[in-house]
Amino acid sequence: MLRSRHVMRQLQLPLQRAYSTGSNPSDGKDPEDLHPIRRTFRLLGNDMLKIKEFFVPTAEKYKDVPKPIATQSKFKFGGDKGLDDEFQTHCDVLIVGGGGIGSSIAFWLKEKARNGLNVVVVEKDEKYTRSATRVSLGALTQQFSLPENIQMSLFGAEFLRNAPEHFGTDIPIQYTPHGQLVLAGEADADMLKQTSQLQNELGARNELLTAERLASRFPWLNTKDVALGCLGLEREGWFDPWALLTNYRRGALGYGGHFVHGEVVDFVFQNQDDIIVTGDSSATEGSYQSLDQVVVQMADGAKRTIKFAICIIAAGVDSGNVARLAHIGRSSGLLRVPLPIDARKRYMYELSAQERDAPGMAMPMILDTSGIFIRRQGLGGHYICAHNGHL
Ligand SMILES: Cc1cc2nc3c(=O)[nH]c(=O)nc-3n(C[C@H](O)[C@H](O)[C@H](O)COP(=O)(O)OP(=O)(O)OC[C@H]3O[C@@H](n4cnc5c(N)ncnc54)[C@H](O)[C@@H]3O)c2cc1C
Repeated sequence: MLRSRHVMRQLQLPLQRAYSTGSNPSDGKDPEDLHPIRRTFRLLGNDMLKIKEFFVPTAEKYKDVPKPIATQSKFKFGGDKGLDDEFQTHCDVLIVGGGGIGSSIAFWLKEKARNGLNVVVVEKDEKYTRSATRVSLGALTQQFSLPENIQMSLFGAEFLRNAPEHFGTDIPIQYTPHGQLVLAGEADADMLKQTSQLQNELGARNELLTAERLASRFPWLNTKDVALGCLGLEREGWFDPWALLTNYRRGALGYGGHFVHGEVVDFVFQNQDDIIVTGDSSATEGSYQSLDQVVVQMADGAKRTIKFAICIIAAGVDSGNVARLAHIGRSSGLLRVPLPIDARKRYMYELSAQERDAPGMAMPMILDTSGIFIRRQGLGGHYICAHNGHL
């Protein structure tokens, strides 16, 4: 537990800090619009331009210039990199990793706090070649056993349903509604009943099906060893995770967030003599060090620092390594416990079946009794298959 002589000062810092201008391009009204005389002049000016266009058509003049692609984005962008962005040396919230999680956190913080919070995301790979978000199957289900996961997924389903309101329509999420079917053998049937009950109590909708009902409803399904199935009836399906990530990123930028292309390679610490650590016998008075800055290795190899009030590690499978840079799991006392995240290899397979009775439109996403997950990919007899556990 930390006790500070200046607890209130410390707690208020993130809210009071406004290190950078972080201007918001999307919410300002043009003050000229409020002035009636200027507004009239502008309307007249527009009419004069139309008359000029009638006599000297610009189409002829610019016939070789490609037409801009129409966009219905909610935000103004200078391409995917956003507006001309200046490097932020200070921020309120620094997020390490701009994958689905990091970009989503940036989006939500900026959506809520707008100019009140300077948010910087540091992402080392702008092409996201090794990002889990990029290869994800984008399956959405509420069939979990932890209430928090069920509630988060219900929120996610509602959010995806309203995605155009949040992001605009120029990068569709491609949400395909379809229930998930979870199969259980004798040993897991009771557990499936209990989790289904919990899910329905929390607002999800799914139904339990015996092996006989499964066989008549899905004649192509092998129900040997299956005792029970649980089929999602609404708010489940799959979407394009790359489109979601791109929208989060663009949305966070549109609200005035900042993305830095670079890798967090170290942290700078600061001695905090005014903080006393209690409940930790190894701590000595005046020995507390807090995180102060990240060291970012930029794409050109140069190293730069960013000072922050709060740092969020959202580095995917590298999160354990980044935490170690912050001494988490490398020191005694509070920092003794490591962040238990590292990489695991996973395989995905694409299968094709051209038989006439191969499952099509009515096929749910299926999680079978062994942990194998399969869903259709389009309607041409193609399927994606993976294993959810550790093989
Ligand atoms: C094959 C597969 C299928 C999946 N299918 C589903 C599914 O159907 N449904 C579902 O809900 N989930 C699924 N998941 C899980 C889901 O994809 C992940 O939980 C989610 O994408 C994790 O997002 P993330 O932002 O934490 O990680 P990532 O997307 O990996 O992003 C982490 C980012 O951090 C960056 N980074 C790392 N270290 C640093 C550093 N030091 N400095 C700067 N940047 C750094 C990386 O470059 C990376 O872009 C699947 C995962 C896999 C692998």
